[in-house]
Amino acid sequence: MQNSNLLIVDDDMAIREAMKEFFTLSDFNTSTAANAYETLDFLKNNPSTDLVITDIMMPGMNGLELTDRIKSLYDTDVIVITGYTEDYSYEEAIKKGASDIVFKPVRFEELLLRVKRVLRERKLTLERNEMMEKLKKLAVTDGLTKLFNSRKFYEQLDKEVDRFNRYKHPLSLIMLDIDHFKDFNDSYGHLEGDKVLMKVGEIITSSLRTMDTAYRYGGEEFTVILPETKAAEAEVVGERIKEKLFEETFVHHLEKEVKVTASLGITEYCPPESPHSFVNRADKALYSSKENGRNKITVILKDY
Ligand code: GH3
Ligand code: MG
Ligand code: MG
Repeated sequence: MQNSNLLIVDDDMAIREAMKEFFTLSDFNTSTAANAYETLDFLKNNPSTDLVITDIMMPGMNGLELTDRIKSLYDTDVIVITGYTEDYSYEEAIKKGASDIVFKPVRFEELLLRVKRVLRERKLTLERNEMMEKLKKLAVTDGLTKLFNSRKFYEQLDKEVDRFNRYKHPLSLIMLDIDHFKDFNDSYGHLEGDKVLMKVGEIITSSLRTMDTAYRYGGEEFTVILPETKAAEAEVVGERIKEKLFEETFVHHLEKEVKVTASLGITEYCPPESPHSFVNRADKALYSSKENGRNKITVILKDY
């Protein structure tokens, strides 16, 4: 358990110093505090403290109140030490969020084992939380382009439509579909096709403002949600994407530069309507760009 950061809290300096020496010799980064207030100050400056070992009986704020405060403010484990079995129960300490309770007289060897167990569990919990975060992120990320996926798109769209209904700020949507992508795959192979998808993802991301979010909606279809944005401004973003895509050269086939184009559909949210009909209109606009020769942007302001 090297490198774990311990804080020992006891109003009795002799105990505090003896414990500090013992834990320092056991390879912990050990600090001390003489009361609850010093402890809270210390944690404010050292939020990465792993474990606080605190006496319960202290003048001012006692160890249980301190535990309560620590647990509400920090992700730090606490072991409490009590001298009076009758006064403070195991249940009480655990209810306050303590990870363990130790009764006086404290045997350091026993305390060390308990500290190691608490830190081991802490490590497992942290690892599990990290894993959960990663899984959550994976569940809403497209593996190829690293953009959000369609699941996240619908989640976010629902949120933005709710926000529209509260604040009535404009909300726009861009839908983009790569032109003749099947032909591209057939001519240059699926791997080259994947590179195009990745590049299109990068181009879209690099064309957005801070509030906008981009999604890989399906195979070679992308969407952008643009909060606080009217269709005309969304069109500017769309033009930027289209131009950047046109500047890009994909495969050098027999010395020939291969260009890829995309068709875009843009619309603005028209209340009262469902997210579904909002998306449908963007889709219609996109379809119209395809119908009219591709490599185009079509804006439909509302359903007629
Ligand atoms: P259009 O201009 O009408 O959009 O024609 P298109 O060929 O792009 O459209 P179509 O829907 O007929 O074909 C879509 C193609 O996109 C077919 C499919 O192989 C390709 N595609 C979808 N997902 C991927 C992918 O992950 N990687 C690659 N390389 N190709 C993909
Ligand atoms: Mg296509
Ligand atoms: Mg398509």
